[in-house]
Amino acid sequence: MSDANESILRVEGLRTWYPIRRGLLRRVVGHVQAATDVSFEIAPGRTLALVGESGCGKSTVGRSILCLENPQEGRVEFEGRDLLSLDATSLRAARQRLQIVFQDPMASLDPRMRIRDQIAEGMHSFGIGADEAERTARVAELLERVQLDPRTMDRYPNEFSGGQRQRICIARALAVEPRLIVCDESVSALDVSIQAQILNLLRRLQEELGLSYLFITHDLSVVRYLAHEVAVMYLGRIVERGPTERLFAHPAHPYTRALLAAIPSIDPARRGEAPPVLGDVPSPSRPPPGCHFHTRCPVAMERCRREAPPMFAIEGGESRCFLSEAPGRAD
Ligand code: SF4
Repeated sequence: MSDANESILRVEGLRTWYPIRRGLLRRVVGHVQAATDVSFEIAPGRTLALVGESGCGKSTVGRSILCLENPQEGRVEFEGRDLLSLDATSLRAARQRLQIVFQDPMASLDPRMRIRDQIAEGMHSFGIGADEAERTARVAELLERVQLDPRTMDRYPNEFSGGQRQRICIARALAVEPRLIVCDESVSALDVSIQAQILNLLRRLQEELGLSYLFITHDLSVVRYLAHEVAVMYLGRIVERGPTERLFAHPAHPYTRALLAAIPSIDPARRGEAPPVLGDVPSPSRPPPGCHFHTRCPVAMERCRREAPPMFAIEGGESRCFLSEAPGRAD
């Protein structure tokens, strides 16, 4: 784990629940428990991957960090300041250094605007660049950085391929000189070969600019190359966290083992190691009692149906499973 004092982002006990309203009076009859007790940190120049199936709450965590959602509890410390307690002006200033790249570049680009204007938009808002000529020079430099021809800056988004559009979104994020970028399923819509190119680009930019990434994905196989640490989420909670190499070599939580066993490209000798998870993900509005994973866990015990496991410290990380409780860890 990174040292808390060195963290650029430190999330502590984050809880974001959405009320479920019914009836004429729109009474609150329950909550979608999108994220509960989520804690992690990211050091400068490092990448944390937040991984889990669709609906596990990982995107809610990303949006909560960017203050696009209203968490009910917790702290989101970015560069030492709690974003959740900042006034609108201070939050806007902090947001300059905290950018997001979404899954669908076409949806996040304006089809009627030239890409030069979309990349320069944030620079205008935050007063970057003395004049138009300086901003144009910076747009050209950014396009080169993401390996696009600067002569294409007067084109529109539909004149580019999906992978090129994602490069434009990355250039737009870089335009305001961020320290941390939240990549929310940023390569999920792309072909495998294009995915690899974008991952390469992200890694190179990290090396050149010292960026930090929160890389949100449902696909554990794409994070090995990019992430220094991985946090696995299930039904709104982080169930395992640790350095990427350890997590891939010695997954502690049964859910992580099942996710790894489902990756086709993983070492064939390891594929049969974990039985597959059973059935569908339960509703986050009515998570099962005890360990939320017990309805699908191939090694669930009687105790798991009654008691919720806390996070146990393990060698190289943490795991929310009774089997990780020292000294009786069953690996
Ligand atoms: Fe499975 Fe029990 Fe561990 Fe939950 S606590 S993951 S149900 S063994």
